[in-house]
Amino acid sequence: MSQLHQLTVAQLSAWLCARQVSAEEAARHYLARIAGRGDLGAFLATDEAVTLAQARAADRRLAQGDAPLLTGVPVAHKDIFVTRDFPTTAGSKMLQGYRSPFESTVTSKLAVAGMVTLGKLNCDEFAMGSGNENSAYGPVRNPWDTARVPGGSSGGSAAAVAALLAPAATGTDTGGSIRQPASFCGLTGIKPTYGRASRYGMIAYASSLDQAGPLARTAEDCAWLLSAMCGPDLERDSTSLDAPAEDFAAALNGGIDGLRIGVPREFFGDGLAPQVRAAIEEALAQLEKLGARRVGISLPRTALSIPVYYIIAAAEASSNLSRYDGVKFGHRTQNYRDLTQMYEQTRTEGFGDEVKRRIITGAYVLSHGYYDAYYLQAQKIRRMIADDFQQAFQQCDVIAGPVAPTTAWERGEHRADPLADYLADIYTLPASLAGLPAMSAPAGFASGLPVGLQLIGNYLQESRLLNVAHRLQQATDFHLRAPQGV
Ligand code: GLN
Repeated sequence: MSQLHQLTVAQLSAWLCARQVSAEEAARHYLARIAGRGDLGAFLATDEAVTLAQARAADRRLAQGDAPLLTGVPVAHKDIFVTRDFPTTAGSKMLQGYRSPFESTVTSKLAVAGMVTLGKLNCDEFAMGSGNENSAYGPVRNPWDTARVPGGSSGGSAAAVAALLAPAATGTDTGGSIRQPASFCGLTGIKPTYGRASRYGMIAYASSLDQAGPLARTAEDCAWLLSAMCGPDLERDSTSLDAPAEDFAAALNGGIDGLRIGVPREFFGDGLAPQVRAAIEEALAQLEKLGARRVGISLPRTALSIPVYYIIAAAEASSNLSRYDGVKFGHRTQNYRDLTQMYEQTRTEGFGDEVKRRIITGAYVLSHGYYDAYYLQAQKIRRMIADDFQQAFQQCDVIAGPVAPTTAWERGEHRADPLADYLADIYTLPASLAGLPAMSAPAGFASGLPVGLQLIGNYLQESRLLNVAHRLQQATDFHLRAPQGV
């Protein structure tokens, strides 16, 4: 059983279907591994009784012989998804001990597909951050180098999968939170087109940007999970797309001969670390060897995506987070004399510094007199950024470049300078603002740390991205390497 955790989702599924291992054995194996790696800080909640009950139910389905392919495969969820059987905190003190009375669409879809929940994963508070250093429950460590961040905000998701504590995990991506931790931890992760996955039960950060997606080791595994997670949820999420989930695995093996890969010159500027650039160039050369054609393109407003995103996301956050007032749910201060003081003191105690910074910024850009100058301008430029992509997609089929300017940084490195976190989001924000599908796939290493290749597609073209990543993974083995000692 020792090699069970080495299996990909697809391989484990084959073992489960052939009854070479039971879902209960698999669940126990992973729970034991999770218990042994508390040092990573990846998990916020586990519950053996709940997990084993789900695993036994999966075994009964498997015994009947007509179970869906993911039946019995363990998964862990970012603590942004509300779950009935586990507490949900969003990495915030504000929701300490919160139990949701309902289940998010994404987690319930994966349960219907037969997946067994291992627990809930640490993340930056309300998904605000790029290094998982903003969690009220402590930082997450990168299994490749525990002195470094795993990326964020889905840092627990990435660390858990990279340390082989789960074969796959869910994440959410508002401005890069699936792609960047996938890149920093040597994993594959995909954010689908905005609207593909339901936001119902996903604790809101910036609603016009938030999307769910999987992190796993291979593009094939991501395809399987994505197919199970996506689909219309029109009654419960007003921005849900009326587009049926596709069988994303069906197109994985298609050839990429003649595929035009657009390489934006703005993604290769001065801020890009030379070793990261080298790994990306190698991956692009590999894709050319597989028949793809490289074309130079321009996304001229790339740099503007940082101020635009941090205005719009903060504005939406200030509105979304107003519900945490000590009345409806979550933390309430013990210390107050009147209602106003109760609100103030509850929010002072419940939110961390970064969340407060965003709420203050958001309230400012939405306030009378500044709305036109900041929020409205940002909305206009957001539209132009989306238009730039449509221009680019006239010359190419897929866009490729780095996910982040550097590899994982050391914990504490950005502490004195929150702007350093914001600037590191430069390559992931444009696709988020445009609502385009985008993913990260392992491209190589720089000084022993993983580097991710970002692939961006036009709307609803997740299959094409997964196809390119899969072909790359047929020709390389970066995605199968594991950190030392894991
Ligand atoms: N780093 C970005 C932020 O802090 C993105 C976070 C995310 O995608 N949730 O807002």
